[in-house]
Amino acid sequence: MRILLIEDEEFFANMLANVLRQEAYFVDIAADGEEGLYRAIGSNIDYDMILLDLGLPGIDGMTVCKQIREAKPNSRIFILSARGQTFDRVKGLDIGADDYLTKPFPLEELLARMRALLRRMPQSSKPMLGLGQLSLDPSLKKAYVNGKEINLTITEYMLLENLLRKPGITISQEELISKSWDDFGSTLFSTTLRTHIYNLRRKLRHANLNDVSIRTVVNQGYQITLDK
Ligand code: CA
Repeated sequence: MRILLIEDEEFFANMLANVLRQEAYFVDIAADGEEGLYRAIGSNIDYDMILLDLGLPGIDGMTVCKQIREAKPNSRIFILSARGQTFDRVKGLDIGADDYLTKPFPLEELLARMRALLRRMPQSSKPMLGLGQLSLDPSLKKAYVNGKEINLTITEYMLLENLLRKPGITISQEELISKSWDDFGSTLFSTTLRTHIYNLRRKLRHANLNDVSIRTVVNQGYQITLDK
């Protein structure tokens, strides 16, 4: 699951991001409304949930919420705000937030409500992906060979999903890294990518996948192909 956290208080944002990463969420942080809108709407990443502060410099959180909702109606938007007045909570929900939590809040409550929101709004826009004997369930982040689940790390899964979204097309190392890691991991280099690809290939081979290959395209990137 990939989360966008739009929050201008750096200390709180980093603390919350670390907690979420321990729960195996990918987290990107945007420090103001403008960056938040760009990442939510303008970038090529589809976030599973957007955690949104209301008191932001520049574009206000309420406006951000409204614009995201208009541009991407299926987004899950969760407002986290120090504004706990009934008026703000009602307004937040009225302009399209799916849930609202007043700061300060217990982290366990946020995590529980996030899980509830993910369950309540299953992303029907994410059908199964498949190639040959390989199939992926993007909603559950699980991969299968001949219907049998294979045990991948979240990074290996994300690499495989990003390759499988464009079978037969070479994806550059930069694109794979930016889509398969969050901000926290974006300082990773191509050597790290190579290690993950190596492990991924090994696991797929052990699962007896024999009609799909991850190919290295020298100086360009990687592609997944169906072997004839
Ligand atoms: Ca704030």
